[in-house]
Amino acid sequence: MNDIPLDFGDPADLDDLRRRFRAWLAEHPLPERGADEPLPTFLHRWHRQLYSGGWVGLDVPQAYGGQGLSALHQVAISDELGAGDAPGIPRIGYLAHALMEFASEEQRQRWLPRMLAGDDVWCQGFSEPGAGSDLAGMSTTATRRNDHYIVNGQKLWTSYAQYSSLCLLLARTDRSAPAHTSISAFALPLDRAGVTVRPLRAANGDDEFCELFLDDVRIEESERIGAEGNGWPLAMTTVSYERNALDTGHISKYGLLVERLRRAARDRRDELPDGLRSEIGRCFVDYEVLVAHAARRTAERLAGHTAGPESSYDKLLMTRTEQRLYETALRVFPEELFGNEGNGNEGGELFGEYLYSRAASVYGGTSQIQRNIIAKRVLGLPSAR
Ligand SMILES: Cc1cc2nc3c(=O)[nH]c(=O)nc-3n(C[C@H](O)[C@H](O)[C@H](O)COP(=O)(O)OP(=O)(O)OC[C@H]3O[C@@H](n4cnc5c(N)ncnc54)[C@H](O)[C@@H]3O)c2cc1C
Repeated sequence: MNDIPLDFGDPADLDDLRRRFRAWLAEHPLPERGADEPLPTFLHRWHRQLYSGGWVGLDVPQAYGGQGLSALHQVAISDELGAGDAPGIPRIGYLAHALMEFASEEQRQRWLPRMLAGDDVWCQGFSEPGAGSDLAGMSTTATRRNDHYIVNGQKLWTSYAQYSSLCLLLARTDRSAPAHTSISAFALPLDRAGVTVRPLRAANGDDEFCELFLDDVRIEESERIGAEGNGWPLAMTTVSYERNALDTGHISKYGLLVERLRRAARDRRDELPDGLRSEIGRCFVDYEVLVAHAARRTAERLAGHTAGPESSYDKLLMTRTEQRLYETALRVFPEELFGNEGNGNEGGELFGEYLYSRAASVYGGTSQIQRNIIAKRVLGLPSAR
């Protein structure tokens, strides 16, 4: 068991929660994934199963369909899932936090319970062909017409939009104002007239990415989240929570692999080259640093701090740990490059994880951008320009 060291300020009921969850999981194990079942469909079934047991939205108030517990409870359940090598709690926490902070009371009541239950599946429409790192340079527009907006533009890399019913969309509502005050956020139903979702197949065969074409799409004023022109802080809050490894079960999942590597370093001492054993040592150090860091973040959350630019550290640490770990694991277990079944062209699970780890330095903002944020917004260093 690779517990995040949550032995500071732990509520007394935490062990009980973990025990109850393990018992529930034993009775409601991860379902089998159908041979042709797309990953998002499978994960959606898993989401609903977790929700039916009361294990989604632990730190969301009951008024919005959650369990009204603390961030610590949420982290503990993520930790249990990761340690059990099960998919994490569906990655909706960052969207839920954005809605809790920026949506009106009526909107929270309308969207949050359905999001937690898996009745609505949301995707994130931020990036565009000409605006990824430079998100402020987006060109999708939402032009006001009395009580509604007309949206035109294109989004790109919108993960799993083809499996989603709503999109957290950013669009420019004022072309003359400075970028950071001219962007607004909307909840766009994807079945709306004028929306075209086109999946893109990635090199590894996955169809995670989508293009989203928006042609004269009508969005009601009641679908705007927060004040007009206040989409930038919402976007920054969303990505700050997205950059955090706490709620995803990633940390304990890394812990399982670190343990496998540690055993290999010990049991295959004479066989593995010194350089590779040193690399395993570095994996171990990265992992321990991440665990200590996660404990600090958990303590901060419990103290009521909301995520801010410091979450760029989290993203960098997580990326470094994950990429080194899978790269090293493939060198230690090269036989796992390929799966067991098939004709040798099928990548093994570890290989799939390795490939996806390469994306960690891009999604949620690239590593270079995280370093820029730390330099400017956390350390206050002067800009080169
Ligand atoms: C797996 C995955 C899932 C994703 N899912 C979504 C999603 O659901 N919704 C969504 O909106 N987006 C999504 N994205 C898009 C992601 O947010 C962008 O890819 C990312 O922000 C980088 O933007 P870009 O691809 O346009 O690269 P660019 O911004 O064009 O950057 C290209 C390169 O230039 C570097 N660079 C750019 N500007 C600077 C600078 N100022 N200083 C230093 N270096 C710089 C970058 O670091 C990068 O190496 C996803 C991406 C991936 C990989």
